[in-house]
Amino acid sequence: MRSITTLHLQYAHRFYGFKGEAQYLHGHTGVLTIEVEDSVEAGVNMVFPCNEINKTAWEVLKNFDHALILRQDDPLLPAVLDVYEKQGIRNGAPTNTMKGEAFKTELATAYPECRLVVTKETMTVEGMIKIVYELLKDKLNIVKLTFTSGVNAASAEFPVNKSADRCPLCGIALNEDGVCPKCGYKKH
Ligand SMILES: [Zn+2]
Ligand SMILES: [Zn+2]
Repeated sequence: MRSITTLHLQYAHRFYGFKGEAQYLHGHTGVLTIEVEDSVEAGVNMVFPCNEINKTAWEVLKNFDHALILRQDDPLLPAVLDVYEKQGIRNGAPTNTMKGEAFKTELATAYPECRLVVTKETMTVEGMIKIVYELLKDKLNIVKLTFTSGVNAASAEFPVNKSADRCPLCGIALNEDGVCPKCGYKKH
């Protein structure tokens, strides 16, 4: 069965080099739906608690929220960094508190201190699905991702070949020692 959760991400981006209005800087509220598949853990009668899927995803994905997302070859990138530098906010500001953990994958690098994500490819809805899967595939048994942004939407399905041992008391994944990191339950 599947547990499904949805996150909202507000961001600014543009399609550099695209011959359409999206080549201008603009913003969206993007909606990401994450579907996680596994057996139903009998103790809690859930596949996985949705708020925990949400928390795990948000730790990483909050880097995209209220962020600027630019392709690595976009000339806006050095221009924006130059302004941030001159303004003294490139390396952080006291009001920039909702920072995620910095990440670097093949497809994207996050700079939480200045709320910027630099991507290898244009950040279309399809591009975002590739980025998100890369970031979360080892943390969650993702079988499907859907991302919508304005009138654009894309989805992709992924094979799942593993099952996670979960806590029968709170439903979250047990660690390598078979212990629940939340409530301390130990698998016998
Ligand atoms: Zn857009
Ligand atoms: Zn537990």
